[in-house]
Amino acid sequence: MLTKSFNLEEIIAKRNQKLCGFIDLAQKVDSSQVRLPYMIVCGAEDGPVLLVDCCVHGDEYEGAEAIARIYNQLDPTKMKGTFIGVPAVNLEAFNAGERVAPIDWTHLDMNRAFPGNPEGMITSRVSYFYFENFVKKADFCISFHGGGNGLYMEPLITYTSPNEKEGDMSYRAAVASGLKVWWNLDEAPFTGSLPEEARKVGIPCGVIELGGQGVRVDHRDEMISISANAIENIMKEFNMLEGNYEKVPEDEIKNVRIKYVHADDGGYHKLTVKAMDFVKKDQVCSEIVDIFGQKVNEVVAPFDCYIVGYWSYATIHPGNWAFLFGEPV
Ligand SMILES: [Zn+2]
Repeated sequence: MLTKSFNLEEIIAKRNQKLCGFIDLAQKVDSSQVRLPYMIVCGAEDGPVLLVDCCVHGDEYEGAEAIARIYNQLDPTKMKGTFIGVPAVNLEAFNAGERVAPIDWTHLDMNRAFPGNPEGMITSRVSYFYFENFVKKADFCISFHGGGNGLYMEPLITYTSPNEKEGDMSYRAAVASGLKVWWNLDEAPFTGSLPEEARKVGIPCGVIELGGQGVRVDHRDEMISISANAIENIMKEFNMLEGNYEKVPEDEIKNVRIKYVHADDGGYHKLTVKAMDFVKKDQVCSEIVDIFGQKVNEVVAPFDCYIVGYWSYATIHPGNWAFLFGEPV
């Protein structure tokens, strides 16, 4: 179990190649495998190792399609360093179309399960394998997330303050990304998340969040293009690709810290605001309406802030995230 040999260093030592495939990690009940998909492009010349992953939460697809798009576009003869794309770290959840993998006896949120445990449930084991064999081998990691099946997320990138090596790289990635909302992640909201655990072992990581349930029909290609553009720009910033990228003018950037606010009651979630509205403290942002059409509660802004993300599915359960409020830094 999880002892399958996979030597990333051996693969990336060979310059000028492109390969994709799966790593088998464990046999399942039906004799198929729990697997990890990868796409690797080794540039003709040496350079940094950029790891780009998606679907640690299985229903957040936008970055996964962008990873495939970039992989298919990259020409190793015109590239320095190594691009490693892992479109679905949590392939079991991806298959199920759910945030977490139903295969575990006790469901586990993979983005609270890092750096993993080789003796735990399969999600912990996959996290461990991925962290040891991919994350620790990278110079920089971009981890895509999004609104998934329940939320809408305004396109944003996380960074840590540029006061140490990783901070500097994540700040440079934020500048290059082309994204207008920057989330200062000096204080991580969760333990066991990939960016936080990677940072602890000296691997800088930027999370890009975007899209989700609210926009995935009409704006799917736009979200994939924003994601692919961010990857390409960051590769240019780290001298893996030639060329310039367009910077977002400084006055258009919203630099925020995010607070997750939960709904106290369940019902229909009826928004009274739009994404990126600037709302005042105590302003009503949504109403919770019961099955008889009566208002039972509301969600208010905890401070003056931007609406960075919101629960976009028609109904919300009590205790679920209703909003991600972005307080200007
Ligand atoms: Zn996520």
